[in-house]
Amino acid sequence: MAHRYDTTNIFARILRGEIPNKTVLETDHTLAFHDIQPQAPVHVLVIPKGPYVCFDHFCAEASEAEIVDFHRVAAQVCAMMKVTPDAGGGYRTISNAGEAGVQEVPHYHLHILGGRPLGRMLA
Ligand code: 5GP
Repeated sequence: MAHRYDTTNIFARILRGEIPNKTVLETDHTLAFHDIQPQAPVHVLVIPKGPYVCFDHFCAEASEAEIVDFHRVAAQVCAMMKVTPDAGGGYRTISNAGEAGVQEVPHYHLHILGGRPLGRMLA
């Protein structure tokens, strides 16, 4: 089934500047900002600026430049937040997709969580 992007979703509104956000890092293709309801001391959301609904949609339709930039920004955020293993930390990236994945906001985003022991979690 084709992905239908809802331009009224909250992250689209953040990208249009209609809702404020606490930006961590921004490039031409990508925005990283603090989650409004953090689940860990570090909880940053990384989103592409393009209209992609979820991970598989992004990977199928975004340009290589967008995909590379997105992942570089995510890695830079981990370094900036000092949660990388070489900084003595650790982190988890999560992306929820669709109804079964309990995705709340239908604009692709990667959660970066860290700053505390995260426990074992695969589902
Ligand atoms: P999902 O369940 O879609 O994977 O995660 C959506 C995330 O977006 C949640 O962690 C939620 O706290 C966050 N969120 C929802 N609305 C806002 C908002 O207006 N601003 C920010 N910064 N985060 C939001």
